[in-house]
Amino acid sequence: MAEADHQLKLVFLPFFSTSHIIPLVDIARIFAIFGVDVTIIATPANAAIFQKSIDRDSARGRPIRTHTVKFPFSEVDLPEGIETFNADTPRDMTYKIHRGLSLLKDQFEQLFQDYQADCIVTDMFFPWSVETAAKMNIPRLIYVGGSRFAHALGHSIEKYEPHTKVESDTDTFVIPGLPDEIRMTLLQVPDSLRTTNEFTYMMKAIKDSERKSFGSLFDSFSVLDGAYLEHYKKVMGTKSWGVGPVSAWANQGEDKAKRGRAKVEEEEGWLKWLNTKTEESVIYVSFGSMNRFPLSHLIEIAHGLESSGHNFLWVVPKKQKGDEGFEFLEEFEKRVKETNRGYVFKGWAPQLLILDHPAIGGVVTHCGWNTVMESVNAGLPMVTWPLFAEQFENEKLLVDVLKIGVAVGCKEWRKWDDFPEEAAVTREEISKAVALLMGDGEEAKERRTKAKELSQEAKKAIEAGGSSYNSVKEIIEEIRSYKRGKVMHEA
Ligand code: UDP
Repeated sequence: MAEADHQLKLVFLPFFSTSHIIPLVDIARIFAIFGVDVTIIATPANAAIFQKSIDRDSARGRPIRTHTVKFPFSEVDLPEGIETFNADTPRDMTYKIHRGLSLLKDQFEQLFQDYQADCIVTDMFFPWSVETAAKMNIPRLIYVGGSRFAHALGHSIEKYEPHTKVESDTDTFVIPGLPDEIRMTLLQVPDSLRTTNEFTYMMKAIKDSERKSFGSLFDSFSVLDGAYLEHYKKVMGTKSWGVGPVSAWANQGEDKAKRGRAKVEEEEGWLKWLNTKTEESVIYVSFGSMNRFPLSHLIEIAHGLESSGHNFLWVVPKKQKGDEGFEFLEEFEKRVKETNRGYVFKGWAPQLLILDHPAIGGVVTHCGWNTVMESVNAGLPMVTWPLFAEQFENEKLLVDVLKIGVAVGCKEWRKWDDFPEEAAVTREEISKAVALLMGDGEEAKERRTKAKELSQEAKKAIEAGGSSYNSVKEIIEEIRSYKRGKVMHEA
């Protein structure tokens, strides 16, 4: 067998935030399904987020492993175990995690060499890795978090600056150069595009590395935002593939229940409760892995859900020292238990399993892309409540293009941990949006039908011959052919 035809070795490096780790590890696991030899690099606490899935895959005979690297706690003055960005991360420690991460660069580079990677697949937040790959003469694939649609909006806003031509920050403007007519307001634009700050430079470095990469990977599929794949290739000038929905593809059967940190004893309570509910009668409410709302917001959500007239399962993060409002939540929980109207889930919910339960009929989401893809796959319409990152752009896709979303009416982009004193959305707005989504009006029915159609398309995309399935095969072929070219050149 020629050297280039040997089993390909791919090394994956996820970023240290829960919601970037989850999809990139799923992508790594998909490549292992195709027989590619896969190594994932992570520090111990980050590896703990997904290790059980890797153990199961490995027991199934798939060529996949994790290589753990110790996090440099003492060098950056962090307590052991604080090495992930999520809702539990003490806010004053995030910059130290960034510093620790930068100290690991040499070790990461050494590991790419040691594992004799034929290709590295690294998160967008590691722009330096494109130079590493160039030095090693191997391709780098960049994993871009978020949707291709949001990427296109961000790109056009940066290029044409339509937000600088409006008179007020609530006037809408059309974003030029896109396949659809999309309108936004200045307040909805991420601050790295509105002003020039540290993040603006970071995003520029990411884009620069993206253009130099062999190609980019998105958790998406062709029917969802295929027009934006073509658009992407044109404006970025690089290859790109949609390989989603990655969670549905990588997590089948028991993987769904066991993904992440779901605990069995918590599963039982919610499951028993959901089992008492009729089909599509419950709305699932979650704001992702980073969110910790202040009390004012929790109060509005609680009242809004209660007065919506619909059943709900609401996920809130576990109480932390200094958190206000848990007495309020406990009382609320007691009350809705008595009326059998709602279930408050504290901690890390088994989201994939919940979304698949027949009693769930809709989702309230902050439009984090993973949750959007998981809800699309489950065939669920969404109430959209964007908060930070590219979530306002994702809202436009759901509400204006795909027409499977109802906007709750959140008006202003904020940093992920910076909330206004007063809740950004009122209880009346929440209750109204939930009632619209879960009700039986014509539009609600149409949204449900569209969401179910998209779910069918999502499932087709990952079957043999589907768009995402073909993408993964094509990527493997392209890496193989790169390797062949290299071997011939070196011979
Ligand atoms: N998630 C989960 N249980 C929770 C909260 C979140 O399994 O209690 C998962 C969710 O399924 C998704 C990810 O965490 O895969 C959240 O990612 P998303 O992009 O939706 O939001 P972010 O965390 O980036 O704000």
